[in-house]
Amino acid sequence: MSYVMCMMCRAMYGFTAATMITTPVYNIESFSNNINAQKSVQYNISKVQKLPSTLSRLAPPPSNQPEWYKSHLQRERHLNRLSKPIKSEVTYTISTKGKTSSDLAEFSRQSNETLNDARGWARLGVKFKQVDSGGDFDLVLSQPEHMTSFSSYCSSDWSCRVGKSVIINDKRWQKTSKAWGEYGGSIRDYRHMAINHEIGHWLGHGHQNCNVSGESAAVMQQQSIDLQGCKFNPWPLESEIWSTTLGVRKI
Ligand SMILES: [Zn+2]
Repeated sequence: MSYVMCMMCRAMYGFTAATMITTPVYNIESFSNNINAQKSVQYNISKVQKLPSTLSRLAPPPSNQPEWYKSHLQRERHLNRLSKPIKSEVTYTISTKGKTSSDLAEFSRQSNETLNDARGWARLGVKFKQVDSGGDFDLVLSQPEHMTSFSSYCSSDWSCRVGKSVIINDKRWQKTSKAWGEYGGSIRDYRHMAINHEIGHWLGHGHQNCNVSGESAAVMQQQSIDLQGCKFNPWPLESEIWSTTLGVRKI
């Protein structure tokens, strides 16, 4: 059988290796009964795989972070540093007011998931734990008509927070809001937002407006009512991670 030998291969790797490179497959198969020939193939292929020394010098240089990037990271870390909360565990009770139709076990489970979610207020450095009595705040699921019994500034249409009572309107928990429905947000995200917003009041936050149209809304914006051009967002923004109640501030 014939083959065409690669002259450059022959010059670089020797006659036998060059033969292996340029020999058609059926020629290699014809050697398979010859053990010595197989050994020769393995030996010569291992020689071929070694890079010539000129190529090894072309390896990329080791990549180090430039100084400007290191100082940028340092500045970021500094900006995001928080003081320690006055307590690492925040407790709360769960109860109902009036006649509610939501599943209370689901309300309890989903509220706890939201509170301890890594995207939420747990970023303050606290854990939230449900207790039977004597909680730091009381999470209440309320019949809409009973909302005003907590305070005259609460409304039967919305959720509310009064003192240590964080009150979720049963109707909103089940049906979200008109604005949320038009946006097509999920009921789970609405519930995340409702809990995060009302707990945000207990943590010491007031309301915010949409600052930049098209950006994510602050969780403390009244997103149930009007987005003001912002995007729905169920989680506190980085700028909202502070709490006067828990003594957490940027340092
Ligand atoms: Zn509010």
